Amino acid sequence: MKIAIPVETDEAEPRVAATPDTVKRLIGLGADIVIQQGAGLTSGIRDNEYAEAGAKLASAATDAVADADIVLKVRRPTAEELATYKKGALVIAIMDPYGNDAALKAMAEAGVTAFAMELMPRITRAQVMDVLSSQANLAGYRAVIDGAAEYGRALPMMMTAAGTVPAAKVFVMGAGVAGLQAIATARRLGAVVTATDVRPAAKEQVESLGAKFVAVQDEEFKQAETAGGYAKEMSKEYQAKQAELVASHIAKQDIVVTTALIPGRPAPKLVSKEMVESMKQGSVVVDLAVERGGNCELAKPGEVVVHNGVKIVGHNNVPGRLAATASSLYAKNLFAFVETLVDKNSKSVAVKWDDELVKATCLTKDGAVVHPSFAPKHA
Ligand code: NAD
Repeated sequence: MKIAIPVETDEAEPRVAATPDTVKRLIGLGADIVIQQGAGLTSGIRDNEYAEAGAKLASAATDAVADADIVLKVRRPTAEELATYKKGALVIAIMDPYGNDAALKAMAEAGVTAFAMELMPRITRAQVMDVLSSQANLAGYRAVIDGAAEYGRALPMMMTAAGTVPAAKVFVMGAGVAGLQAIATARRLGAVVTATDVRPAAKEQVESLGAKFVAVQDEEFKQAETAGGYAKEMSKEYQAKQAELVASHIAKQDIVVTTALIPGRPAPKLVSKEMVESMKQGSVVVDLAVERGGNCELAKPGEVVVHNGVKIVGHNNVPGRLAATASSLYAKNLFAFVETLVDKNSKSVAVKWDDELVKATCLTKDGAVVHPSFAPKHA
């Protein structure tokens, strides 16, 4: 059984799908590991560290993936990459499947069995494989660090001989995994933190971190969580009430971190141009949802926009801004999943097709898109 880890072809992707630690563990499953030279460099891992862990090194991607039974990646492979994979190979990555039908079809036609790590069900057994959580947690931390770096003032209250510096006010919108870590990070830096979310369960979590919860808490709010624990898309009426409350609150904030997402939908627009214009000179908005359409009307992917003296930070791939940590957690998530897909005794791939983790994540198989959410609908 051969497992390959090629260099990520997207130049904007510094993470890598295996670390020396997970290489050792994969070898423990009976696999031969082939790493393309340089795959770990942007995550601070040198080729010799992989070699010392027991991996073989390949100079070209084609050599790394040739005959591989499993290809581990961060991002979905391109058509050019797919052409070099063995038919029937398992390809495991963050597949970004929503709205990308053509890419899913290309994977089906290439004959690979593709698994989308971000579709892993959020059940206890799969927590160790939850890439959304491992990466969002880091993004939430980094968003506050980026916001603090752009903010021209200190965050904690400081009482000095030269005078007292007031604590910065940080407002976190969306209190899921990223938002809760943003709250915790801003609190550690000494800011006065408030947060909002449409899910009632978030209130207690926000308060347990020492932040104040700000939200319109009406009947719709009480029903706003799906069985899977995600947010529902709220009605126009709710959004208008929430926007009014948020508008008066935002005007008083120094740093706003937005993290609100709805699975499979564009990110909800929460911070309008007028709200940005109500903020003080030198304030900062960090939009973690920028790649999904943005929570802030003015955010642009990959840019720091300055509008009326307010900086709107829209970095892409925020977990990649902490590539070494992000790779180490992502690689562990992948290892835990791979462990369920192989048979240690026969040292071969042995996918249990009726396993709920497999059913939830498998996008393509035997030449077809098989996932119920993405398979072409027949009349
Ligand atoms: P997410 O990334 O999908 O969204 C981020 C947050 O934005 C969510 O809290 C969501 O409620 C919020 N949001 C959506 N629309 C909003 C709006 N209009 N205004 C304000 N906030 C809005 O969420 P996530 O971080 O993936 O977490 C989703 C849920 O899953 C949470 O309940 C989390 O605790 C839970 N979770 C469970 C597990 C597990 O059991 N294994 C693991 C991770 C997360």
